[in-house]
Amino acid sequence: MLVHFDVVIVGGGHGGAQVAATLRTQKFEGSIAIIGDEAELPYERPPLSKEYFAGEKEFERILLRPEKYWNERQITMLLGNRVVSVDPAMRAVVTDTDKTIRYDKLVWAAGGSPRMLPIPGGNLPGVQGVRTRADADAMKAASVAAKQIVVIGGGYIGLEAAAVMRKAGKKVVLLELLDRVLARVAGEELSRFYEKEHRDHGVDLRLGVSIEAIEGDDRVTGVRLMGGEVIPADLVVVGIGIIPAVDPLIAAGVEGDNGVLVDRFCKTSAPHIYAVGDCAAHQNDFAEGAIIRLESVQNATDQANVVAKSICGNEIAYNAVPWFWSNQYDLKLQAVGLSTGHDQTVVRGDVAGRSFSIIYLKNGRVIALDCVNATKDYVQGRALVNAGISATAEQLADIATPLKALLPG
Ligand SMILES: Cc1cc2nc3c(=O)[nH]c(=O)nc-3n(C[C@H](O)[C@H](O)[C@H](O)COP(=O)(O)OP(=O)(O)OC[C@H]3O[C@@H](n4cnc5c(N)ncnc54)[C@H](O)[C@@H]3O)c2cc1C
Repeated sequence: MLVHFDVVIVGGGHGGAQVAATLRTQKFEGSIAIIGDEAELPYERPPLSKEYFAGEKEFERILLRPEKYWNERQITMLLGNRVVSVDPAMRAVVTDTDKTIRYDKLVWAAGGSPRMLPIPGGNLPGVQGVRTRADADAMKAASVAAKQIVVIGGGYIGLEAAAVMRKAGKKVVLLELLDRVLARVAGEELSRFYEKEHRDHGVDLRLGVSIEAIEGDDRVTGVRLMGGEVIPADLVVVGIGIIPAVDPLIAAGVEGDNGVLVDRFCKTSAPHIYAVGDCAAHQNDFAEGAIIRLESVQNATDQANVVAKSICGNEIAYNAVPWFWSNQYDLKLQAVGLSTGHDQTVVRGDVAGRSFSIIYLKNGRVIALDCVNATKDYVQGRALVNAGISATAEQLADIATPLKALLPG
């Protein structure tokens, strides 16, 4: 079968869906297809470790759009098809179902797959990454009868999974290799706060722990630590990051390594091929121009808008302020900016009262905020980050003065 679409989007997640939707709002009249290897219409991924996992939201409620939205806009969904190769010269992709699909423009929005532990037993049944609805369903099913769950990785996904399992009354052990949780994304104050919260909620949180093997014959029974201790487990949830899904592009000679390299307009090194979202390595102004990948709904959505507009002839460079959220227990974290490279932190608000912000500065300039149950700070702090405002620790810590007062008149 050989077909052609004006725009072919690989991946029906946050980025891919947004490219298609924005193309139509930009009055793009050409044909559009989304090729996705999952069976489902595009859905929100964040609830997989939050409300969907907790059973508070049905799957239909996390669909990004209802089916009729895609039909009405003539966006063809080629679901259950995995793209296995790309031919930039022919402008064609080939799927694992033997379809060859030609394109004028190709948008690669394939996200990534959970990184698993390269240790003995690392892929035993009952060892679960969390990326798709299928993963969340498998985790839910296994957790019902589980007596003890081990979560590996103290990043956002691991912490959220631990929180939901504790709410469900499960015994949870959380293992983190480094000496604090959230070490790669947040400052020490925030790490210590979340460590205390999880311990107060009954999580057996262990830091600085190396894992030697996952034990079990036909299914996981435990996690063996360096030194020999075995922690019993009937379910192991692994949240140690993702591997960007870019192999077909790299095999086709497109530049990249840990992700596919894109320029400010989300164009790859190959003509007519764009990339967005978790798999796109880009130069980011909020990281002082470093090449990074961002794994957030904000980044996928904003890059998708850049691509759709570019395809419609309206080129605008990607320069959006990064933001992110995480829900754990009754704590709503909202983060804005990138704190990596900060040289000073200021605590604003009441940490013991569980409503505060950590403000990150570099050379006196506000570069990021982590706001816990402090939405006003988040909204106003975002403007400070965007404008690159300089402020003193005293000004930022003074809760009697709203952050917006620090913006120029
Ligand atoms: C459990 C969880 C919780 C999260 N929580 C938050 C949060 O609270 N806030 C936040 O901002 N972000 C959160 N994220 C991150 C956010 O979901 C991602 O950044 C976002 O989904 C990235 O969008 P994307 O389009 O790049 O990739 P995805 O949404 O992953 O979509 C990629 C799609 O492409 C498909 N695909 C891959 N390879 C191929 C191929 N070769 N052919 C066809 N299809 C392919 C994949 O199966 C997938 O369906 C969370 C992620 C997870 C997994």
